[in-house]
Amino acid sequence: MQPKFCPECGHALEMRPADDQHLRPVCPACGWVVYLNPPIAAGVIATRADGKIVMVLRGENPGKGLWGLPAGFMEIDETVEQAAQRECLEETGLVVELDELWGVWSYYHARKQTSGVLVLYAARVVGGEPHPGSDSVAVQFFAPEEVALDQLAFSTHREALERWRRTHQ
Ligand SMILES: [Zn+2]
Repeated sequence: MQPKFCPECGHALEMRPADDQHLRPVCPACGWVVYLNPPIAAGVIATRADGKIVMVLRGENPGKGLWGLPAGFMEIDETVEQAAQRECLEETGLVVELDELWGVWSYYHARKQTSGVLVLYAARVVGGEPHPGSDSVAVQFFAPEEVALDQLAFSTHREALERWRRTHQ
């Protein structure tokens, strides 16, 4: 999402080559340069004792009606680990403990003008009761081989789950 107005003086921004020749929103009045950086999302591949993975059916776009891992954007006042646990609790009602870092994925969709970085942790469900919450309309556990990879909202989640399948047979 491109800002339209200068955050310093309110003048309309223009796309110009900035200091390093990258095209950036620049204020022609005061010279302010807006640096756009990808937001960071965090989430979990969370399993219960039988090895099944918790997935959420998304109730909001992007990906409404498709499945995803519990994940969402970091708040400004939390760590990436806290964000992963909070998003899981909000979307599934489940409390998780994080194990290892599962992976980091970046994405850029030129057509949709969206980009981001997704950090996923392997996690274990240690409490709570599964129920849908923010952004989700259903919570369900799937064995790794049961996950319908063609019904996932995001290619990053598919790549993470494909690797999970290969290593958790
Ligand atoms: Zn300005």
